[in-house]
Amino acid sequence: MQKCIAFVGNIPNHEKQSWLAKIGPLLKNTRLIPFEELSATQCLTIEVAIVANPDPKELAEFPNLRWVQSVWAGVERLVAELPNAHFDIVRMIDPNLASTMAEAVLAWTLYLHRDMPKYRCQQDRKVWIQHDLVDLKDRKIGILGLGQLGKAAAEKLVLNGFNVSGWSRRSTELEGVKCFSGAEGFNQLLAETDILICLLPLTKDTQQLLNDKSLGLLPKGASIINFARGPIIDEEALLSHLESGHIEHAVLDVFKTEPLPTDSALWTAPNVTVLPHISAPTNIRTASKIVAINIARYFESGEIPEAVIRTRGY
Ligand code: NAP
Repeated sequence: MQKCIAFVGNIPNHEKQSWLAKIGPLLKNTRLIPFEELSATQCLTIEVAIVANPDPKELAEFPNLRWVQSVWAGVERLVAELPNAHFDIVRMIDPNLASTMAEAVLAWTLYLHRDMPKYRCQQDRKVWIQHDLVDLKDRKIGILGLGQLGKAAAEKLVLNGFNVSGWSRRSTELEGVKCFSGAEGFNQLLAETDILICLLPLTKDTQQLLNDKSLGLLPKGASIINFARGPIIDEEALLSHLESGHIEHAVLDVFKTEPLPTDSALWTAPNVTVLPHISAPTNIRTASKIVAINIARYFESGEIPEAVIRTRGY
C-alpha cells in the first residue's frame, strides 16, 4: 500500500513548492503531501514528516508520528519548541553542506590571516603600510565544535597548512589536530588561539559560552569567526573586547536576532564583518536525496536515522 508522509513548513510558498518538487519524485511508493492538503484520516496514518520551521501545533495533528526529518542542519529552534514531543527529531546531515561550510571557514580564515580587513581600512585612508606576514604553520586556529561541520573545517585548514586545534564535549582524536575537551581544555584552547572559529550547536551549555570572561582568555589581537548560532556569543561583551582592541576582528554570520536589527552597533563597528547567515546554505538537490534515502530506509527496515539527544540538546 502507498504510504503518506507530510511536509510541514512555515516557509515562503515558492520554497515549499521547490522542496515538494525535488523530494516527491525521489520517493518510491510514498506520497508526499503538504500539511494543508492532508485529510483528517490521512493525518492519523502519518509516521514521518519532513519539516522546515514547522508550527508545533500542526505536528500535534499526527498522533502516530514517529520522527521528523528537518531539511536544515541546525534544529535548535525545533528542539526548543518541542521539549516533550513523543517523536524523534532528525536533522540534515549532508556531506555537501559540511564541505560548503569548510570552504567558508577557509575563505574567512584566509581573510583574517592575510590581514584583508586591515588593508581595506588602510586603502580608505590612503595609507601604505606593509604588515609582517605570519607563516601558515604559525597561525593558530582554534575550532569550537568538532562535529560534522567542525571536523570538515579542521581537515580543510590542516590541508592548507594551518596550525589547528579543536574542542568538543567528549575527547576525540583527529589527524593533525590538537584536540581538547572539558572546561580546562576550553581555557587552554582559548589561551593559544589566534583565530577562533565557532561551530558549536546552541544548547543550554553553549549559550553565551563566549562571554566577557572567556573572550578575555584569548591572546590580545585574536580574531573570531562565528558560523554557528548568535546566542553562543554575548554580543555586548564582544563589542567591548573589540572596542578595547583585545579582539582585533570578528566575522559574524549569525546573530542573537536575525536579520541583524539596523540599530545594532555591530553594523558600524569598524572591526566587524557582518554576513547575512550565508556561510553554509542547504543545497536543496543533495539534501532532497538524503531525505529520500532516510525515508526509504525507514519504510524498508523501520530504522530511524540518528536523532537529536534531547538531554544534551543536539
Ligand atoms: P554536530 O555534528 O552535532 O557537532 C557538534 C559539535 O559540538 C560536536 O563536536 C560536540 O561535541 C560539540 N559540542 C556540543 N556541545 C558542546 C559542549 N557543551 N562543549 C563542548 N563541545 C560541545 O553539529 P554540526 O553539524 O557540526 O553543526 C554545528 C552547528 O552549526 C549547528 O548546530 C548549527 O547551529 C550551525 N550551522 C550553521 C550554519 C550557517 O549557515 N551558519 C549552517 C549549518 C549549521 P561531541 O563531538 O563530543 O558531541
